[in-house]
Amino acid sequence: MYNYKIKILKTYQNTLQFAQQLDKEDTLSYLREQFHIPKDKNGNDWLYFTGNSLGLQPKSTQKYIQQELDDWAKYGVEGHFEAKNPWLPYHEFLTNSMAKIVGAKPIEVVVMNTLTTNLHLLMVSFYQPTKTKYKIVIESDAFPSDRYAVESQLKFHGFDPSEGLIEWKPRKGEDLLRIEDLEQIVEQQGDEIALLLIGGVNYYTGQFLDLKRIAAIGHSKNCMVGIDLAHGVGNINPDLHNANVDFAAWCTYKYLNSGPGSLGGLFVHEKHAHNKDLPRFSGWWNHNKKTRFNMRMPFDVMAGAEGWQLSNPPILSMAAIKASLDMFEKIGMDALRKKSEKLTGYFEYLLNQIDSDAIKIITPSNPKERGCQLSIQVKNADKSLHTKLTENNIITDWREPNVIRCAPVPMYNTFEDVYRMTTILKGLL
Ligand SMILES: *Cc1c(COP(=O)(O)O)cnc(C)c1O
Repeated sequence: MYNYKIKILKTYQNTLQFAQQLDKEDTLSYLREQFHIPKDKNGNDWLYFTGNSLGLQPKSTQKYIQQELDDWAKYGVEGHFEAKNPWLPYHEFLTNSMAKIVGAKPIEVVVMNTLTTNLHLLMVSFYQPTKTKYKIVIESDAFPSDRYAVESQLKFHGFDPSEGLIEWKPRKGEDLLRIEDLEQIVEQQGDEIALLLIGGVNYYTGQFLDLKRIAAIGHSKNCMVGIDLAHGVGNINPDLHNANVDFAAWCTYKYLNSGPGSLGGLFVHEKHAHNKDLPRFSGWWNHNKKTRFNMRMPFDVMAGAEGWQLSNPPILSMAAIKASLDMFEKIGMDALRKKSEKLTGYFEYLLNQIDSDAIKIITPSNPKERGCQLSIQVKNADKSLHTKLTENNIITDWREPNVIRCAPVPMYNTFEDVYRMTTILKGLL
């Protein structure tokens, strides 16, 4: 880590000219043009650092949605078969690209519902507590929705969350999680633990955890392992299949730029793809495609992730996802990661140049242990700093108790963005 920092100090420079030079050399810089960038009242682009909350709109999205509106107008119900992209199998048009982004096989992935709903549906199958083995491990800084979901599952099965919920916490005086501590929790209490449900990239600190190791730790004591990838998908390479986690779920409106409240995705590992005995909730959409419309057939569950669907899905939302996935398909995650490491590395370098003890980066400094986000801890939890950034058209977000989250997104943020942001931040401090 020490050597890495030295190398960075030698390569980066703290000047506008240098930032602009990096943009000129950036082979992905053309992508920014393909997005709508929000502007201030003078017509200047906002410095937008909240792609981790809501990704910006690709200019192509409108065309993709318009296509489905036109086909609906033209064909009515026949659009299920006659539309340019027939609606009946529409979700299948998303599967291959989505599988590549998360490092999965097509049979392991489906786009459906929203994230928290999918977590519940997956827990119906993969959280099967017994009287003695029923506890669930989450990160102490888990996203609130995940915590509520898990608590309600415990209660649903008749357990007291204050007993059934185990928190994996950073050590006293530290901000990040240590994998050895998870190892110890599972070693000591594994016989009572049914499930680990962990955020692959923590929403608060930006820490990217070792998913393969988490899966191995859980499986060593026969615990199921699920991953929330909300902050990972489109940001890092989670390599889900090889990580060998049992299941995962994510949303697509953050780094996948699919629009507010758009559908989520889920992953079920291939090893569970043909297990028809797994308990699950059902509807007509996880019934065998061939006989789905032969309405009087007994239920016959589909193999793979599609076997968790319930309803026929909203085409307009999937059209927006298709617009985004077609971009990811063209660019590839490897190229995005490469730029992302450089962009966030430059951002980190510039923040470290600010001589102030009022702020501290809590995100890991090793690029392999983070995505694009840097979480800046503010001394004395002074929220006015975030307010002042917003007044300067720098869009970041404040997360209680004391962190400003900033995510330079490789698809549309520039080296100049991070240079301008840190220059203004320095002025404010
Ligand atoms: C964004 C996010 C959610 C949001 O859940 P929805 O069901 O899409 O509203 C949940 N969990 C995590 C970790 C998130 O980052």
